[in-house]
Amino acid sequence: MSKQIDFTAEAEALREQLVAWRRDFHMHPELGFQEHRSAGLIADRLRELGYQVQTGVATTGVVALLEGQQPGPVVMLRFDMDALPITEVNEAQYVSQNPGVMHACGHDGHMAIGLGVATLAAQHQRQDGMVGTLKLVFQPGEEGMDGAKVMVDEGVLENPRPDVVLATHIWNEKPVGTVGVSPGATMAAAEKWTCIVRGKGGHGALPHQTVDPIVATAQIVTALQSVVSRNVSPQETAVVTVGTVHGGDAFNVIPPQVDLSGTIRTYSPQVREMVLRRVREVIEGVAAACGAEVDLDIVSLTPAVINDAGVAEVVRAAAGAVVGSENVSSDVRTMGSEDAAFFMQQVPGCYFFLGSANAERGLNAPHHNPRFDFDEDVLPLGVAVMMQALAHYLHL
Ligand SMILES: [Zn+2]
Ligand SMILES: [Zn+2]
Repeated sequence: MSKQIDFTAEAEALREQLVAWRRDFHMHPELGFQEHRSAGLIADRLRELGYQVQTGVATTGVVALLEGQQPGPVVMLRFDMDALPITEVNEAQYVSQNPGVMHACGHDGHMAIGLGVATLAAQHQRQDGMVGTLKLVFQPGEEGMDGAKVMVDEGVLENPRPDVVLATHIWNEKPVGTVGVSPGATMAAAEKWTCIVRGKGGHGALPHQTVDPIVATAQIVTALQSVVSRNVSPQETAVVTVGTVHGGDAFNVIPPQVDLSGTIRTYSPQVREMVLRRVREVIEGVAAACGAEVDLDIVSLTPAVINDAGVAEVVRAAAGAVVGSENVSSDVRTMGSEDAAFFMQQVPGCYFFLGSANAERGLNAPHHNPRFDFDEDVLPLGVAVMMQALAHYLHL
């Protein structure tokens, strides 16, 4: 059990430093697998704090270890580092200095929280002792680049193998001072699908001599709407989206083909398997009925993020101790996807959301928006929640 340390006060004492780190990262955003400056600052700071630091993991990733004085569990904390190809339109003094690149998802805050946790954990390890091992992972390329998978392929889950993994996201969908921790499915499995509908082109005035891929496509798009509404149980969750439809160049020509693409999002493996099968059956079946042919390709991007019930309970209690249990909700889920799933597929873990919006101060633009910014109160809160959860495992 933890010794009733006031982590909120300790994190609050770090506030100025946390804000300074966050603003420095914000001013110097870097795209996935190019986070050289961010990773360099992080590695230097972790070395100063006494961590064993490994750099260049998955190109720009940083992995750091802090050993306790006694054996115990290995707890891995994951923080992502990459920014987005967005031009910032905010007017804050810490606006992006890197044209066309912006921390519009909050990963600048994640890095600052990670350094804050590293600072406090090292202090406690030195002063009061610690059991087990803290493994900090600063990950490159989260934004659709599967940096987590590259890290797993490079062995980040070995030497030592973590027993528990925690990850968090600053979340402008919820007000600052709240935390979302849900047991079970929290973020969706994501698939990308692409499809070529092949017909037979010809004159727009002589349709009987053609196989019209536009008419086939229209029916495919309509029929796909029935997969979620008629095949998935109303108690379950799934999304089938058609994101692009491209075909035809002239008003009086029936084109030979139409290209489609879209995404599929699901939580449970059973629903996922069924939806993938039905999408294929519907597309191939409707095309065949129209006399067209299809080349359909469905590619798995990330698995679902599934929180371990026991670990989620530890985080829920930790969050409650920091923000009050009335401000912790267990129903924050999204059909967005997260490559932290690649870690959590192998190690029991919890991915939780740190509310960060402040509507009164105008800090509530959505993630990936050129006006995205968040209430920096979330930084000490995030550090305190992480420390409180760590104290449970590492007896800080
Ligand atoms: Zn993002
Ligand atoms: Zn993000």
